[in-house]
Amino acid sequence: MALRFDPGVVAALGRQLGGGRVLVTGTNGKTTASRLLAGMLEAAGRPHLHNREGSNMVRGFASLLVRRADLLGRIPGAADMAGVFETDEATFPAAVRALDPDVMVVTNLFRDQLDLVRRSGYRGGALAGGAELPRGAMRCSVLNADDPSVAALADGWPGRVHWFGIDDPAFAREGTGAADARWCACGGDYVYERRYFAHVGWWRCAACGRSRPATDTTARAIRLGLEGASWEMPTARGAPRCG
Ligand SMILES: [Zn+2]
Repeated sequence: MALRFDPGVVAALGRQLGGGRVLVTGTNGKTTASRLLAGMLEAAGRPHLHNREGSNMVRGFASLLVRRADLLGRIPGAADMAGVFETDEATFPAAVRALDPDVMVVTNLFRDQLDLVRRSGYRGGALAGGAELPRGAMRCSVLNADDPSVAALADGWPGRVHWFGIDDPAFAREGTGAADARWCACGGDYVYERRYFAHVGWWRCAACGRSRPATDTTARAIRLGLEGASWEMPTARGAPRCG
């Protein structure tokens, strides 16, 4: 309803959030990742908004923000408030335009019919609809180094990148099924030293030598169980920080 009255309502309200606006996208894991982020903000006592139970489309952002706004269109306490917004890949470009995020997190990118897309001039790493990370040297992206499609998003991108990934040989699997990102932008094949699942792992292009970036934050000693999961997660000294 609010969007019918004012199509710019998400921008007008969302951009009031001065404590950092984080957009989380990817094919798998975006709900878990955004809940972890919101949980950290909660634990740190930082005021924040999170589209936890709502839709991850722009409509859902509108519902979340309108509920917090007063009748004059102001969100009380917004100057210190952070926002964690989970969005699907298709909505990502619209979400970027509306929210002007400070930080963008991309978990992984799986796509169907890559062959078809590639023949029509697909550039490795583009998000749905050919969208790329929005330009702006002040922005920061948190990207999965283990996914070559995500890593390609950083090619020529001017902002800061904080790379994350897994370093645990025990977690690697043999024969993990069909790979989505089978070709580098140069047309070469990806080869894997380790594969965690699908096309995600320690990759390099056999033709041009592009390879998995060195990680800033690394998950090690991963233990997955029915009761929960644990891992070690050191961050490299001097790694780029996102806010
Ligand atoms: Zn290549």
